[in-house]
Amino acid sequence: MNAIRDRAFAAHDFGHIVESRPLDVLSPRSGAEVQGLVAFADRHRLPVTARGRGLAPYGQSQADGGYVLDMGALNEVRCVPGERTLAAGAGATWGDVVRATLAVGLVPPVLPDHLGASVGGVLSTGGFGASSHRCGLVADWLRELEVVTGTGERLVCSAERHPDLFRAVLAGLGQCALILRAVLRLVPAPERVRRYRLYHDGPGSYFADQRRIARDSRFTHVEGQARPALGGGWRYMIEAVAPHDGELPCVDDLLIGDLGHDRDTQEIEDLSYAEYLHRLDRDERLLRATGEWDRPHPWLGLLLPEEVAEACVPGALTEPEQQGLRTCGVVQLRPLNGRTLRAPMLRRPAGELLCLLSVMRTAPPAAPDTVRRMVAANRALYERARAVGGVLHPMSALAMTPEDWRSHFGPAWADLAHAKERYDPHAILTRGYGLWAGAR
Ligand SMILES: Cc1cc2nc3c(=O)[nH]c(=O)nc-3n(C[C@H](O)[C@H](O)[C@H](O)COP(=O)(O)OP(=O)(O)OC[C@H]3O[C@@H](n4cnc5c(N)ncnc54)[C@H](O)[C@@H]3O)c2cc1C
Repeated sequence: MNAIRDRAFAAHDFGHIVESRPLDVLSPRSGAEVQGLVAFADRHRLPVTARGRGLAPYGQSQADGGYVLDMGALNEVRCVPGERTLAAGAGATWGDVVRATLAVGLVPPVLPDHLGASVGGVLSTGGFGASSHRCGLVADWLRELEVVTGTGERLVCSAERHPDLFRAVLAGLGQCALILRAVLRLVPAPERVRRYRLYHDGPGSYFADQRRIARDSRFTHVEGQARPALGGGWRYMIEAVAPHDGELPCVDDLLIGDLGHDRDTQEIEDLSYAEYLHRLDRDERLLRATGEWDRPHPWLGLLLPEEVAEACVPGALTEPEQQGLRTCGVVQLRPLNGRTLRAPMLRRPAGELLCLLSVMRTAPPAAPDTVRRMVAANRALYERARAVGGVLHPMSALAMTPEDWRSHFGPAWADLAHAKERYDPHAILTRGYGLWAGAR
């Protein structure tokens, strides 16, 4: 079970930047096994990290000199349609979740774009999706969690039971407990959706439309991208979705008539909801086939006040260190409404209108200097964003010091530190983020 191959595989992640050797990789088959392993590690003060699908970009799912728990076997998914809930093992993927819920006409209100990540991995970081502008985080829709704390205690927590632990685990970066099982609320799923791709020649009309869309409820799902334009510069694209139940709606004018995009290039397409949810599967297959999936990914996520995004992002994209993005990368600009983001450990700028900027770079293979430059460019962007009220999305390729983290969590730091002291006093859990001095 614990072959060398497993140790080599757990020494990496999707980022392919940080490499650290665990003592061992273990594949627990039950909550009791996780509990036993964590209690053992706590007694011996050894690091433990849960690994879902290893999509982290910078060592966050590694355990240098400790145990990586591959959660893949804890993947049971059970839907209770009458209660509109789903209980999912932490190692199940969001693809497993969607398969089970769509079969009974239901769906979680928010899903990550990429369905290959694990339930535990996404809940520990919060989870943004295309419906986040209306419904907040994936983690905002949890009813209950079963967890194992850093001392090996197995607890069920919710808003009513052990609420301090519940708050510390949701988007809490795996610092206080490992997730075994999550109970999620579900809502009725549409049968079909109409997808609009709306292109803008410049950022002005793009951000004006994103603002309008984030404030009203005309679309259930919205995302956006900056894309390299032919001949230089950048174009902007809004991808927005409205549901319907089989009959084609004649509502295009109502939905997009007042928006400022280029009418000649707009794309309108009807899809089944399942096709829409699986929209990234094809991209993944393509990236795997070309080898890009296995290259270094120095990704950066920043939550920005919307006006800062509009003022700073277009300029930043023209700077020399961002030029690689034109050929090998994706720039996402996701509109968010701050009032919908509830998990307290998800730090965000003040204000209602926000933007999640995701700079998804791919580095060439065997080019460590380029990777170092890209990580340095991440640091520079982060510092600039921080100076104008921006906040890091922790799933980023960026070395953060304990001081950086303290400033990142701001007023939530005291609650997190208190929960850490109570539930993981020896700081054995999820050290890859480097939150606590001396524990990495
Ligand atoms: C192609 C791609 C698309 C993405 N799209 C989105 C998106 O749309 N929205 C979004 O929010 N994110 C997105 N992400 C980020 C991704 O969802 C997060 O990195 C997520 O944490 C990865 O899940 P994983 O199962 O691979 O976790 P891993 O990489 O295995 O782990 C990530 C972190 O979660 C912790 N963790 C894992 N399981 C548990 C557990 N059971 N209990 C406690 N902690 C645990 C790990 O220790 C680690 O710190 C994307 C990433 C990629 C590569």
